[in-house]
Amino acid sequence: MNSVSVIDAHCHLDFKHFSKDRAAVMDRARSAGIVEMINSGVDLPTNRRTMELVRQYPFLHATLGLSPNSLERFSNRDMSELKDFIRSQADDIIGVGEAGLDYYRVTDPALRARQVSVFQQMIDLAAELDKPLVIHARDTEEQAFQMVKDQKKVVFHCYSGSLATMKQIADKGFYISIATVVCRSVPHQAVARQVPIDQLLIETDSPFLSPRRGRNEPAFVLDSVQLIARLRGMTPEALADATVRNTRRIYGI
Ligand SMILES: [Zn+2]
Repeated sequence: MNSVSVIDAHCHLDFKHFSKDRAAVMDRARSAGIVEMINSGVDLPTNRRTMELVRQYPFLHATLGLSPNSLERFSNRDMSELKDFIRSQADDIIGVGEAGLDYYRVTDPALRARQVSVFQQMIDLAAELDKPLVIHARDTEEQAFQMVKDQKKVVFHCYSGSLATMKQIADKGFYISIATVVCRSVPHQAVARQVPIDQLLIETDSPFLSPRRGRNEPAFVLDSVQLIARLRGMTPEALADATVRNTRRIYGI
């Protein structure tokens, strides 16, 4: 592969997994051609740390949110504090999220209902701030889609749903982000082959979903570039260029 420029459209470099070597991880990414990275908060502390990082590293962008998996022991007062924090950072963030529904990890009906109510509040916040909404949906892609279908700017991060739902999402003009898990998942490969090229983003979701062993990091998004390019019969350069253009278009970066 000649030198390519890529944006890792979703990662969590503020997580403790990177406490010992965060700067080195970012250096490796930049040397490998990962020109920019988008870091997403999942709760109040990670939203705060995300803002500290983006102030330190100009190639890092922030989306601030509340993951459906962060809702245990999360009170209504925490919710208003979180929303106020996101509003206070509105000029310095490029999106709201991740936010959404995760019925894979959460089976308790009361907690699922809480996910729906919190997700609706995050949808409203993204609309209020006129920012793209970054969705985390697991075993809930269709339901999440129904909740956001009237929004303007939407990214389904780490899309793992069906081909049929992907097509509905794409028909709305929304974006579909494929994580590095695609390197070892045949169903993800089927989706990655068919997302309209002008709506495809790629991401690592670091530190999770490594295409290699152990911890994931932004440099590994190149594994997806190679694989998805091959699946689609494109050069890695053309695939990378398309995803960079898409990422810049949806987030205005
Ligand atoms: Zn994530």
